[in-house]
Amino acid sequence: LPSRADLIDYNYAVAGHDGTLSDVDGELFIKPCTMAEIAFYESSLATHPEFAEYMPTYMGTLTLDENQNGKTVEEVGAALIAKRSLPEVVVPVKTGKRIETNLAVVLENAAHGFVKPNILDVKLGVRLWADDAAEEKKIRFDKVTEETTHKELGFRVAGMRVWQGHGAKGSDIDEEGYKIYDKNYGRFSIHRGNVHEAFKNFIFSESAGIDEELGKLVAQAFLADVTRIQAVLEGQESRMFSASLLFVFEGDGAALRLAMEEASRSPATLVNGDDENSEEDDDDVVGPKIYVVKVIDFAHATWVPGQGPDENALLGVRSVAKVLEHIGGV
Ligand code: ADP
Ligand code: MN
Repeated sequence: LPSRADLIDYNYAVAGHDGTLSDVDGELFIKPCTMAEIAFYESSLATHPEFAEYMPTYMGTLTLDENQNGKTVEEVGAALIAKRSLPEVVVPVKTGKRIETNLAVVLENAAHGFVKPNILDVKLGVRLWADDAAEEKKIRFDKVTEETTHKELGFRVAGMRVWQGHGAKGSDIDEEGYKIYDKNYGRFSIHRGNVHEAFKNFIFSESAGIDEELGKLVAQAFLADVTRIQAVLEGQESRMFSASLLFVFEGDGAALRLAMEEASRSPATLVNGDDENSEEDDDDVVGPKIYVVKVIDFAHATWVPGQGPDENALLGVRSVAKVLEHIGGV
């Protein structure tokens, strides 16, 4: 069984805190988190299956304390076994204060299986803080809202990475050829008037082989999922402050074309997620990945029975849908 020492840094996060990890195969995404986030994953799986479909597959939890000999190994092992079985297999959360600071959630890595994953984190909401936030945080986050697209559109581009093709070079391009748009991009360069540009920069890249026609197909695929997420959110009673829509698609144009061709030959691979009728031969059905849309970051998410849908998050989801409609030409 692997130990904590077998986990490696996850280098593809486009926003959020440091300290995310992966396994050597890259199938897992492991994030230090609070009990509240774990609780939201577990309650969503138990009571909101339609929404859970759009969460990254939850594998269980880990403690990231290297000094806890035995326990950590056992839990990593259990998580690795769990990822090969049904999502409802959950490694029990150990309760008690000690765990809290070392607690991490083990999720499916949404960027796994892509040749060159392009990744975009869109943070949702006008109000970004939960009721229990400290006064200082409320003031700081309200300022972010005031200064960004959060205010009118209910979302902002939190960060993205976009592959620029073989041999691409530049001060904002990493060794692998990804252009990195950090948190300053969506905070200071993007406003209501040019927000489409951010999505165009994400989706289209001539140098990576993603032209107008191919990019439009990607935008349409994203739109289908965002529309579905909107419908699910409209039908449930949740509050999610500072959650995100995570968009991933194949950033290598040649690989993207091949994946789309393959999907058109066996339509089961086209859908985002698993085909219901193929549980037994899942491994045979999964082709090269085209795109994925997930809702992530539930540090401040709860179910609120009787209080109606989350209009705060929904404003952002609807705004993103409008941008994608525009880009997809629908
Ligand atoms: P934080 O609370 O630090 O903001 P997030 O859950 O938003 O944590 O994750 C931070 C970043 O990690 C995201 O912007 C995204 O790039 C990446 N990420 C989060 N969840 C996943 C996942 N399941 N698979 C792949 N990448 C992920
Ligand atoms: Mn986040």
